[in-house]
Amino acid sequence: MGIAVGIDLGTTNSCVAVVQAQRARVVEDATGKRIQPSVISFHPGGATLAGLKAKERLVIDPKNTIYSFKRLLGRKISSEEMQHITGEFPYSVSEGPDGIPVIQARGQELSLPEVSAIMLKYLREMCTETLGVDIDEVVITVPANFNDVQRSSTKVAARIAGFNVLRILNEPTAAALAYGFGGKLTEKIAVYDFGGGTFDITIIELMDDIFEVLSTAGETFLGGDDFDEKIVEEMRRQFLFMHRYDLGEDPVAMQRVRTVAERIKCQLSNLDEVEATLREIAYGPGGVAIDFSFKITRAKFESMIEALVDKSIATCQESLKLARLDVSSLDNLILVGGSTRIPLVRRKVKEFFNREPRTEINPDEVVAIGAAIHAFSLTGEELPEDLPVPVEPKSGMDSAQKIQKTIMGLPTPLKSDEPSHEDQGLDLPDVLPQAPPAIPKKPTPPAPPVIAMEPDPPAPPIDLVAGEDRILPKDEKGSFSIPMVNAAAASTLLLDVTPRGLGVATAGGYCDQIIERNAAIPVEQSRLFSTSTDNQIEVAINIFQGESRRVEQNTLLGQVQLSGIRPAQRGEVKIKVVFEIDTDGILGVSAVNEETGAAQDTRIQLLGGLNEDQVNALVSKYSKS
Ligand code: AMP
Repeated sequence: MGIAVGIDLGTTNSCVAVVQAQRARVVEDATGKRIQPSVISFHPGGATLAGLKAKERLVIDPKNTIYSFKRLLGRKISSEEMQHITGEFPYSVSEGPDGIPVIQARGQELSLPEVSAIMLKYLREMCTETLGVDIDEVVITVPANFNDVQRSSTKVAARIAGFNVLRILNEPTAAALAYGFGGKLTEKIAVYDFGGGTFDITIIELMDDIFEVLSTAGETFLGGDDFDEKIVEEMRRQFLFMHRYDLGEDPVAMQRVRTVAERIKCQLSNLDEVEATLREIAYGPGGVAIDFSFKITRAKFESMIEALVDKSIATCQESLKLARLDVSSLDNLILVGGSTRIPLVRRKVKEFFNREPRTEINPDEVVAIGAAIHAFSLTGEELPEDLPVPVEPKSGMDSAQKIQKTIMGLPTPLKSDEPSHEDQGLDLPDVLPQAPPAIPKKPTPPAPPVIAMEPDPPAPPIDLVAGEDRILPKDEKGSFSIPMVNAAAASTLLLDVTPRGLGVATAGGYCDQIIERNAAIPVEQSRLFSTSTDNQIEVAINIFQGESRRVEQNTLLGQVQLSGIRPAQRGEVKIKVVFEIDTDGILGVSAVNEETGAAQDTRIQLLGGLNEDQVNALVSKYSKS
C-alpha cells in the first residue's frame, strides 16, 4: 500500500489531508488554499475547470457551472428530494436512463458519479502537485445518513478518478478521530455538523480506542444554502418593491444575487450590519442600468433563520432519544461545517447542550484531518518529513496557469486562461460592511471593501492524544499540523451504525424490515421468503430504506432478481435472503435456495448508480485524460 490521503468531498467545499511524519495536515493547492470549492465548470474553450477557478465562473456562466452536485448524487430523479431541489439550479438536470439524473453542460451529458469524479480527480492532481508523489489510495468521507446508493456512487466516483478507496468513513466519525478522542478516554461526544446543504448530528461513544456511533440523525435539506436563500428572497422582495421587476426572471442576475447573499451571510458572522451594492443588476426604461443597494442587520438575519436553526436542535433531541441519552450524559461537543460559524447557531447549540463546544480545529478541515488519520491507520504509510511541503502561496497569472493545467487534463483550449468574451463587462458586486464589528470570537481584521471569498484562517492545532495544553505552536514550515501517536491511530476501532432501516417489500404494500435503523455495522441479517404463486421460477425482491411500515413512504434502493427456481406449488420453495452491510456502510444482498443450498442468481441493481460497463468506460475515459 502506498500513501493514502483523506478527502472530505463536501457539498460546498472539499478538503484533503495527509499524515506526514506523524502529523496530519491539510494538503494545500498551488496557491496555498486549504479548502477547494466543490464546483466544476465547462469552459467555452473546452477545458474542464474545478475548484476556485470553476466557482469564479458561477456568475459568468451559471448554465455550465455545476455546484452542490453532492445533493444530487445517488438519487433518483423522481425522488422527493430531487423534486425539491432541481428547479433551484441554473444548470440543466434531466432524467437519464433508469431514472437517474443527468446533467447537461456545454453539449455533454454527465452522470453524477462522473461530475463527482471530475472534482476528485482535480483533488488527486492537486495532491501530486503539492506533495510531489502520486496518490492512489484514499479514505473518503460521506454524511452519516448517506444511503447505500449514495455511498456506492461516491465509491464509483473515486474509482473513476483513479483512486482505490480504502474506506468510506462517516463524516462525524472522522471529526471525532481528528480530535483524537481515542487517547484512552471514555467519553460520549456529540458531533454537530451544519454544512452548506445538510445537517447531521451524531452521538459517538469512545472507550479506550473504540469509537462506537450510538446514534445518528440528520436533515438532508437543511444547511447554509437555505440561509442564503432567505437573504435572496429578501433581496428579491425589496427589488420588486422598489423597481417592480422580479430579479427571478433573469438567471444571471439571480446567480449574482445568490453569490452576494452568501457573502453577506458569512460577513454577518462577524459584523452587526452589512450593505451590498450590485451594480447594473437590471435595466430600466430606455435601457438605463439599475444598481441595487441592500442592507441587512445580523438581528434581522437571525430572525429570518431562527426557525431553521431550531429544526437542527429538534434533530439533536431526536438523536439523543435514539441513543437513550440526555444532554448531561455527554462529555464533549464538536462543531463541524461552515454554518457553525454563525453566532446564532453557536448560541443555540451551546444553550441546548449546556456546554461550550470544542472548536480548536477549523470546522472546514476537521473531517479531512480525521479521514487522513484513518487512512494512515489502515495503511501504516505516511509521507516522510523531507518531502516537499506546502508550496509558498503564490499570486498572479503564474499560479493561476498552474491550476488551469491541473484541471482534468481535458483538451486544453488555446489561451484558456484569458477571459473569454463572456467574461468581459461583468463586474463582480461590491459588498460594503457598514457597522463596526460586533464583539468578535477571535480578532477580526478590518473588513475589506469587497468581501473576500477565502475561508477563515486555520485555527491553531491541537494535541491529539494527551496533555492538558492542547494548543501547539505553528510549525516552522508554516503549515498547521496535528501531532498524533501511531499506536493510538493504528489500534482505533470504528464501530459505525446504519442510519436507516433496510427491508423488503411484501404483499399488500408493506415493508418488512430486515436490518433496523442504528444497527452496528458491519452487520448481517437474513430472512426466509417463499414463492407466492404456483410454478414460480423467478422472483423480484424490492429493497427499501426507511422506517415506515408502508413501502411508499420509504426509499426504493434497488431490486434483487432471483431466477432458476424449481417450479413447485406456491410456498413450497424457501429462499433465504441475506442482507450484509460492510464497514463502508454499503449493502450487499445474496440469496440461497434453502432446498438445495445453492446460491441463487442474484443481481442487485442500485437505482441511481451506474452499471459496471458504464463505470469501466468512465474509468478508461478519465485515465486517458
Ligand atoms: P461545508 O458544507 O461544511 O463546507 O459548509 C459550507 C457552508 O458554510 C456554506 O453554506 C457557507 O456559506 C457556510 N459558511 C462558511 N463560512 C461561513 C461563515 N463565516 N459564516 C456563515 N456561514 C459560513
